[in-house]
Amino acid sequence: MTPQPPPARIVVVGAGLGGLSAAHAIRRRGLELGLAPHVAVWEAAERPGGQLRTVIEDGYLVEWAANAFRTGTGPTADLVARLGLQAEQVHADRAAERRYVFHGGRLHLLPSDPVSLLNFTPLSRDGRLRVLAEPFLAEQVDHEESVFDYAARHIGAEAAEVLLGTMVRGVYGGDAHALSVDAAFPVMREMERDHRSLVIAGIAGMPQRMREGKTTWSFRGGMSVLIDALAADLGPGLRLRTPALGLEAGPSGGFLLRGVEGDAERFDAVVLALPPETAADLLERLDAPAAAELRGIPTGPIGMVALAFEQGAFVTPPDGFGFLVAPSEDLQVLGCLIESNVFPGRAPDGQLLVRVIMGGVADPDLAARSDADLAAIALDALDRAWGLTDPPLRSWVGRQSRGIPQYVVGHLGRLDRIQARLGRFPGLHVAGNAYRGIAVGKLVDDAEVVAAAVWDAASAGGQPAVSASLGSPSRS
Ligand SMILES: Cc1cc2nc3c(=O)[nH]c(=O)nc-3n(C[C@H](O)[C@H](O)[C@H](O)COP(=O)(O)OP(=O)(O)OC[C@H]3O[C@@H](n4cnc5c(N)ncnc54)[C@H](O)[C@@H]3O)c2cc1C
Repeated sequence: MTPQPPPARIVVVGAGLGGLSAAHAIRRRGLELGLAPHVAVWEAAERPGGQLRTVIEDGYLVEWAANAFRTGTGPTADLVARLGLQAEQVHADRAAERRYVFHGGRLHLLPSDPVSLLNFTPLSRDGRLRVLAEPFLAEQVDHEESVFDYAARHIGAEAAEVLLGTMVRGVYGGDAHALSVDAAFPVMREMERDHRSLVIAGIAGMPQRMREGKTTWSFRGGMSVLIDALAADLGPGLRLRTPALGLEAGPSGGFLLRGVEGDAERFDAVVLALPPETAADLLERLDAPAAAELRGIPTGPIGMVALAFEQGAFVTPPDGFGFLVAPSEDLQVLGCLIESNVFPGRAPDGQLLVRVIMGGVADPDLAARSDADLAAIALDALDRAWGLTDPPLRSWVGRQSRGIPQYVVGHLGRLDRIQARLGRFPGLHVAGNAYRGIAVGKLVDDAEVVAAAVWDAASAGGQPAVSASLGSPSRS
């Protein structure tokens, strides 16, 4: 294949963190190559950030989606430095290292070492001993499996259900029996591959974790600080209230992207940083099988209720980071974060700010419920966890109907098929949380991969650039 000229006009569709960080990385790499690419971002909404949104009012700081990064060195740290945001970083309070699980109708401190595991009563005595026996029983397997199957092989079925089942609900709003460990938690497969036993891997990985300095951190002004800085860096390249409504191949190469005005704009490369269903709608005319594959990525709705209370509004003072809810429980929530414990100062003095997260795949009708219903569900959960004596001072309700993509078993095969389809259109890429990681740090990591693919496609003569944008998930 003859080498293609480097793309001069590039558009990223969607200004969530995935799209904004991809646009930033594409422009930076282009400049490093001595090129001056035109990088546009089309965003349907009237503000950038997508799911990420920070509201600051009357002494409260409320996050709508992710509230923190959990990264050390690497692309996110580099991005923060390039944007001059280091002075804005705030690290989570040490007290927030204590995390709880709601199981058997009450809260239990999550074990952090073998001794505390021995006292972790949500697991039977045999269940606890089975976890401790992991180094003697662990084996490696080389096929994709569910998070539950993987965890049950390592720590036994009981601990897999309670510990991993709870984590998968808390992180993905998903089901540990359905999600693929290889796609959703690739670091777990790497631990097994490198060390066979998770316990041994945990011990062996300590020096590296210390070097990487992974912590929970955000910005003084919340996650919007990063979004605003990325948007300012793009300048007029970012076009708000500009939904992309159609995508087709250009008559002489490249792509035609159609907006509400009806006129199509021509681009050499297109990055779709959209929810998978929206990306599928845009791809329908270009490649219906690729669109069908994207529609096959399930998503779960997510609701968020933030509530402010007087410190003394609970029988038991809320402690630590908050709690996640075990799959066996009848609480209608996934978990609760005590925002003002994690990042002190996010509520006025003498008050607590908590965020209750609900929904997920087990609650598909969540997005249709009223704000009052969601607030009632949240208050019930807080009452059962800590005993509520006083009503909230204030509340905020948010919902995302397509909140979290689910990397179910078979996700990696689906990515390969999407790659094979989209690879037929040099210059076409996908980005965002539907493919290789939902965590905000993973989106910034992936932006670098997507940017490399955009420029490599040109030098490789139009080889399937999406191969780099999809591939297999990396460490998270
Ligand atoms: C309640 C909640 C809590 C979370 N907590 C955490 C956490 O603690 N830690 C963590 O790491 N992650 C967390 N996440 C996940 C993380 O916030 C998301 O994965 C991430 O923000 C998604 O970014 P994205 O760019 O992939 O997608 P989005 O933010 O969905 O961006 C997609 C963008 O595309 C735009 N768009 C849609 N259609 C069009 C169109 N036709 N034309 C142009 N633009 C269009 C949308 O308006 C949107 O701006 C949480 C998510 C939720 C919902």
